[in-house]
Amino acid sequence: MARYRESVCRLCRRESAKLYLKGERCYADKCAIERRSYPPGEHGRRRKGKIIRYGLQLREKQRVKRIYGVLEKQFRLYFKKAERQKGITGENLLTMLERRLDNVVYRLNFAASRAQARQLVRHGHLQVNGRKVSIASYLVSEGGVVSVAEKSRKLQVIQEALELEKNREVPGWLEVYTEEFKGQVIRMPTREDITFAVQEQLIVELYSK
Ligand code: SF4
Repeated sequence: MARYRESVCRLCRRESAKLYLKGERCYADKCAIERRSYPPGEHGRRRKGKIIRYGLQLREKQRVKRIYGVLEKQFRLYFKKAERQKGITGENLLTMLERRLDNVVYRLNFAASRAQARQLVRHGHLQVNGRKVSIASYLVSEGGVVSVAEKSRKLQVIQEALELEKNREVPGWLEVYTEEFKGQVIRMPTREDITFAVQEQLIVELYSK
């Protein structure tokens, strides 16, 4: 499966924002954005110039893709699906991304980053409604129960992620039962549940050209 090969901290520096792609390190002084808050590359420090509308639209789309770890082709498919749904396309897009299984696992604090959550899912450590699901893009429905497989509960990455819990709040559309290593989608996520700053309208404009 295709995935990003470059350093994920470069992605944050390119977007001039913390995208929280690396787990514990993102909350420490070692965070690359804290130390070098300019774009990567030879001319990173000098690159300032005015960003035109297209540039803003492109950057917003790239940022959201990178936050959720989704590549262009799949992101476009999400957008098309969001367009076909009732309601506001940009909001549909964001709430659909939130319901991805890897994101739900991350939001429930069973993984320190979405990338780690994706790996846990792919390696068969997660279940949905009691059945193993190894597809990170699986969309969890309302009422869906996501749990860590019993044999995987002692995994160091999961234990460490749970210790990081204090840094991250579980959103209101999820209920977590940490002792039981499970969580539930108690309602569908809404736009208000998206906790990072995003102007999804810019993405809609970009893809509607
Ligand atoms: Fe981004 Fe985390 Fe790297 Fe900081 S440590 S630059 S937030 S991925």
